Amino acid sequence: MLEERARRERLLAHGAGVAAACRKCEIGAQRRNNVYGEGDPCAQLMLIGEGPGETEDLLGRPFVGRAGQLLEKMLGAIGLAREDVYICNTVKCRPTLPGPRGPKNRAPEPDEMINCRPFLDEQIDIIHPRAILALGAPAAKTFLGRDFAISKMRGRWYEGPQGIALMATFHPAYLLRQTGGELEAVKRLVWHDLKAVRAKLDETPAAAPPEQASLF
Ligand code: URA
Repeated sequence: MLEERARRERLLAHGAGVAAACRKCEIGAQRRNNVYGEGDPCAQLMLIGEGPGETEDLLGRPFVGRAGQLLEKMLGAIGLAREDVYICNTVKCRPTLPGPRGPKNRAPEPDEMINCRPFLDEQIDIIHPRAILALGAPAAKTFLGRDFAISKMRGRWYEGPQGIALMATFHPAYLLRQTGGELEAVKRLVWHDLKAVRAKLDETPAAAPPEQASLF
């Protein structure tokens, strides 16, 4: 297992290097740091967000701002630490718009997501987690198509990339924008989703069928 972990670490480090050198999109030249992803290379659970924000761009790490702090609490509620999972985004560079007081965050453009997709696919291939949790509609749409409606379609398992079980839930930044009764209602839904993720991770993996020869 140690060798396998080291092999995956090497592959991820190589992928991070290729992503850092990528300038396919304009945001590749504008960002401060490429935010490739981080976590356990042998994780059972992979979390995929939309794209890096200001703090992530500054530190070169995913989900380290306010949304990241909430994400850590969400994980803690199902007995997982940040280090137990692998966290990344659909795009590795911070998408920005010019603003009067410096660049502002914006949603990634479809062509930026397409350009970045090989990096994401490679990460999924290397880690091959038991489950993927897409955070927010843009991440879910990357895998489940542009008609994916987060309010109606979250909280269920889908067959994701490479046949991996995939669920979508609300993005922690969305929770941070809610107040009062709406916040309580969204929290209940997210809790439902997190419990389903916990149950999926606790499932006993299906035993491999016996070899034909040993059947007789
Ligand atoms: N929001 C995201 O979607 N990803 C991050 O890394 C941070 C905030």
